[in-house]
Amino acid sequence: MPSHDVMPNMELYQPVQVEDALAIADRLAERAWLVGGGQDTYGWLKDRAKSTDAMIDLSGIESLRGIRESGGGIEIGALTTLTEVASNATIQQRFSLLVDAAATVASPQIRNIGTLGGNISQDVRCWYYRRGLSCYRAGGNLCYADTPQGMNRDHSLFEASRCVAASPSDTAPALVALDATMVIRNSSGEREVSAEDYFVGPANDIENTTVLRPGDILTAVRIPATWANATFYFEKVADRNVWDFALVNIAAAFKLSGSNIEDARIVAGAVQATPRRLTAVENAIRGQAKGSGTAESVMELATDGARALAHNGFKIPLLQNLVKRAIA
Ligand SMILES: Cc1cc2nc3c(=O)[nH]c(=O)nc-3n(C[C@H](O)[C@H](O)[C@H](O)COP(=O)(O)OP(=O)(O)OC[C@H]3O[C@@H](n4cnc5c(N)ncnc54)[C@H](O)[C@@H]3O)c2cc1C
Repeated sequence: MPSHDVMPNMELYQPVQVEDALAIADRLAERAWLVGGGQDTYGWLKDRAKSTDAMIDLSGIESLRGIRESGGGIEIGALTTLTEVASNATIQQRFSLLVDAAATVASPQIRNIGTLGGNISQDVRCWYYRRGLSCYRAGGNLCYADTPQGMNRDHSLFEASRCVAASPSDTAPALVALDATMVIRNSSGEREVSAEDYFVGPANDIENTTVLRPGDILTAVRIPATWANATFYFEKVADRNVWDFALVNIAAAFKLSGSNIEDARIVAGAVQATPRRLTAVENAIRGQAKGSGTAESVMELATDGARALAHNGFKIPLLQNLVKRAIA
């Protein structure tokens, strides 16, 4: 048995300039594994479930850290820790949805080290896959979770395609609700991708959770002013309050005129491989009063098209009730 306490041997690159990191990432391409805080990465490597022979540690690049005002909104460096995100005064004041989401991730220790970029780029948590089994996502031809004996209470309700793993990130639904964009650089330049397009499901790409490709570095997350100071709701339901992933989480932003909902973005996590925007619910509540009457009349729309697995049927009423609470 390999030791779980010792990292395997690999080349280690520790650039301090983003240009150097981009050049190394470009040169190493598929050989490289980028690391921010390592809270997803080190588990893979120590368990020997995945390996790399070259790691690019981004944590020494100061320009990728910090929170700045930008174009009326804010820009958060990808290497900013979740603790820094949750304790930043501007984010607390204008985009408290993201504070509430970041503050529920894992534990204080993990939030002190884990980065926002890593949190939204992390791999799925299906235990079969993380054990190193040769499932579809790992290049094999079986989904161990979607079998009659499969343990799948944490898995997807929607848009499964061979793989049924669910998105584990708490900040991802909040960033989709805030209409954020992800800034990605590689050796040929910079591109900006909307949060909704950043995450990819298994029907499009079964081996990756994001649009990032070898050579790409996520440098920042931009949140526009559009939803600043909206009325927000975030709730995460997990088996434990700390050190645990969401069974379902919900992030919602409402623009109100009096008590009427002018506009809303409602996004659920842990119900499919990407954050799920609940557009049927959003459309149904526009122009309606924000309150329990509206909430009860639309909550079932949240789960139209859901396909429960053997052990995750409880997520259907859970998601409906989180939507109800968000609107009520
Ligand atoms: C016990 C435990 C409990 C957890 N509970 C939760 C939870 O409740 N909620 C939750 O959301 N998460 C949870 N996590 C996951 C963990 O908190 C997040 O994955 C963490 O935020 C990852 O950030 P990181 O910087 O440490 O990631 P890393 O491991 O450094 O990176 C994660 C992935 O993102 C890629 N990456 C990182 N930075 C960049 C970049 N700038 N550009 C391109 N690619 C990049 C890496 O290559 C890697 O594939 C938990 C983890 C553990 C170990």
